[in-house]
Order: sequence, then structure tokens, then C-alpha cells
Amino acid sequence: MEKKQFQAESKRLLEMMINSIYTQKEIFLRELISNASDAIDKIYYKALTDANLVFDKDNYYIRITADKQNRTLTIQDTGIGMNHEDLENHLGVIAKSGSLAFKKENEAKDGHNIIGQFGVGFYSAFMVADVVTVVSKALGSDTAYKWESTGAEGYTIEPCEKDSVGTVITLKIKENTEDESYDEFLEEYRLRSIIKKYSDFIRYPIKMDMVTK
Ligand code: ADP
Ligand code: MG
Repeated sequence: MEKKQFQAESKRLLEMMINSIYTQKEIFLRELISNASDAIDKIYYKALTDANLVFDKDNYYIRITADKQNRTLTIQDTGIGMNHEDLENHLGVIAKSGSLAFKKENEAKDGHNIIGQFGVGFYSAFMVADVVTVVSKALGSDTAYKWESTGAEGYTIEPCEKDSVGTVITLKIKENTEDESYDEFLEEYRLRSIIKKYSDFIRYPIKMDMVTK
């Protein structure tokens, strides 16, 4: 297993996330759902030009699963997935955000300020989780990988089992403290309202599961 450090700028943003300078912690879900949707888009666009790839829309969705007993929230997608290199390059380095570069470019073109619209990204997960685990299998790859991080200490990547292409992100939701409650992020009504508020326009079905024991 490899243990790696985040790059300096990633580390700074990560520390801000962990210390929750953002008051709106709920936006982490918007960020993870938008990444899931982007990942499905990538398969969709690939299928337009690749005759061997059929995009049957019934097979593409995002699933949110909350498990109160285990304090986990899972965001699963059937998108394009990430290989070892992607996990390293995209989740290890904040400054490399592809969407950010794209949006900046377009902002310059149309002169509108859309900075307020762009996300804080994947790392916002650390506002509500003390462990983030990403299991992913890239389209066209035989091996799946597990990326895991507890935040500031860095991350590990190791091969793992996953049958289907796509990504499963599991958040170990923080324990409540004296001033902060995190339990709400495991409540169905709360999750549904966050999804309605920020992710209503997502083009793929967002399914929701509650694990009850
Ligand atoms: P952005 O979405 O602005 O690029 P993020 O921090 O949200 O920045 O995500 C960083 C990158 O990680 C994405 O650009 C993408 O390449 C990769 N990524 C994140 N989540 C997923 C996912 N669910 N499936 C595939 N790739 C992902
Ligand atoms: Mg994003």
C-alpha cells in the first residue's frame, strides 16, 4: 500500500475544509452529485462517437445510501470511473481541477462572474466526514482501486474488488460535537431537501436508499 502526502495547496484547502470555514456544510452533497453526473456525462459523450459503446440510459444513475447505524453516507455512480492515475492526479491535487479551468476560460469569454457558481469540489466531503473512501473502476480497465483519506495525513491507494464500472464514495460521517451536529446528513428528509435545493437539475436519476436494521 502506498501512503502519499497531498500537495501543499491541496493541503491548505483541505485544512480549511476540515476546520469548516464553510458554514454551509450541506453543499458537499451538491459537489459529489455534480461529480457523479459529470462522470456519467463522460460516458454519454464517449458513446456518441464510439460505436462499441451503447448508452442505455436505464443503466446510468446516482445512488445515495445512508446508514445511520454505521454513520456512513455513500454516493455511487455508474459513470466513467477513475484508474490509479486518475485517483492520484484528480483526488491528490486540488489545483488541477479540470472543470475549474473550463469555467475560468468561459468566464473570460462571456465576461460574467460565474466564480460564485463553481464548486469547492471533492474536498468539501471533509466538512462532514472524517474518513473518505473512493472505490472506482474506470471504463476499459480490469482493476479497481480504493483511495482512502482521513484528511490532513494524506491518502492511500490500493487495488480492490469492484465488478462494475463507476465510483462509490463512502463518507464516514463525523460524530456530533458540542457545537456541531452531523446527524442530519444521515436523515432521509434532510438529504432529500438538500438534493432538491441544489441538484434538481441533474439529468440522471438520483436514487435514495436508507439502510434500516
Ligand atoms: P472539478 O469537478 O471542478 O474538476 P472536483 O474536486 O469536484 O473538481 O473533482 C476533481 C476531479 O476528480 C474531477 O474533475 C474528476 O476528474 C475526478 N472525479 C471526482 N469525482 C468523480 C467521480 N465520481 N467519477 C469520476 N471522476 C471523478
Ligand atoms: Mg466537481
